[in-house]
Amino acid sequence: MKIAILGAGMSGLSCAITLEKHGIIPTIFEKRNCVGDRFVNAEAMFSLLDRPIKDSLHFLSKNYDIHLKPINAVNKLVVHSKKQIGSIDGKIGYTNVRGRHENSYECQLEKQLMTKINFNSTCEYEEACKNFEYVILATGDGEYASHLGNYKCDLTFTLRGVTVEGKFATDISHAWFNYDIIPKGYAWIVPFSEKEANIVIAYPDYPDNIKLDINTIWERFYNLVCKDLDQKFRITDKFEITKYMTGICNVPKVDNTYFVGNCFGALSPGLGFGQFASILTGIYSAYDICGIGKYEKLVKPLFKNYNHSLVLRRFLENLNDKDLDFAIKNLDNKLVHKIIDTICSTDSKIDVLQGMTPLMKLWNKYNF
Ligand SMILES: Cc1cc2nc3c(=O)[nH]c(=O)nc-3n(C[C@H](O)[C@H](O)[C@H](O)COP(=O)(O)OP(=O)(O)OC[C@H]3O[C@@H](n4cnc5c(N)ncnc54)[C@H](O)[C@@H]3O)c2cc1C
Repeated sequence: MKIAILGAGMSGLSCAITLEKHGIIPTIFEKRNCVGDRFVNAEAMFSLLDRPIKDSLHFLSKNYDIHLKPINAVNKLVVHSKKQIGSIDGKIGYTNVRGRHENSYECQLEKQLMTKINFNSTCEYEEACKNFEYVILATGDGEYASHLGNYKCDLTFTLRGVTVEGKFATDISHAWFNYDIIPKGYAWIVPFSEKEANIVIAYPDYPDNIKLDINTIWERFYNLVCKDLDQKFRITDKFEITKYMTGICNVPKVDNTYFVGNCFGALSPGLGFGQFASILTGIYSAYDICGIGKYEKLVKPLFKNYNHSLVLRRFLENLNDKDLDFAIKNLDNKLVHKIIDTICSTDSKIDVLQGMTPLMKLWNKYNF
């Protein structure tokens, strides 16, 4: 069986590993020089958002024989709004490295693969369709799927981030929802180690936001982080991404082409998580090819999850700084804390996002 995988990232590599496990050797094309040939950044996988799965990494290891070693477990997420600070404590998930780093998730996946990757590939989709029985589109962006007329783009984001040196607790991440500084957007700090972390801002490209100067937003936010964490950092690296697409394919498979990872719609519009769903789509496409399951059926929960996350995005955008302050303040309320404790516990099967969707829909309906 001749299978082409375009893109050696999270989804493409997961697909290749799964095919190999079932005796199929794919041909992998990667446009860059090596796996993860991009800026190094810290990302997170919050099992809390993947319910009913209790622990995403354990789930991948146990069910699909795909093994990923995180940097650390996240035991606390400190959430900052304009005037309040609250926290979510418990087994929230994991942090990991991406990009040009020997322990990045893409490098860890590559090590679980025997097939050689064709780097600096110029193989075009049309050419792959002619020469292969199946094509896995794993290029990591909605643009390719859009170009093929199989993608509904819901919004695009502007992101700017830096790597900094400072002092960090590796099991604590921070998130900011401060619309005065980042309108309708958010920001986070995720540590790589006790000495290094990533600080990133992300905001949707709505007309009012496009008019804003990113340098001003960045300066104001960066000063706020330094103040909130009471530190002066040393910046060691920078990145900026414009028009980062969030959307979902209309259908997950067209003829013999599978849309996986961000080409499928793995990136959640609510908070920008996409790693776990990317890996799953890679595995599921391989399962379909191997005759183990139907791709369209396997990805159904991911479509659902995407739609719930889109409701979350609209909900967040409909809040103002006062609402955010109120919500964050209440994170430390005893009762709320108890509920969060229960949800965070690894025994919990509560799907927070799904449970909250009807309420958020109501809010969205009456607050637009
Ligand atoms: C700054 C940032 C922070 C993020 N933070 C998080 C986070 O904390 N948690 C989380 O879950 N998600 C996060 N995400 C999202 C997550 O990184 C993506 O959803 C996920 O990596 C998508 O996997 P993928 O397989 O679709 O693409 P990728 O892993 O990006 O892989 C795509 C690969 O395809 C290659 N390629 C592109 N075009 C071609 C072509 N024509 N031919 C051959 N190869 C090609 C690329 O070089 C790349 O190697 C973040 C994204 C960004 C940008």
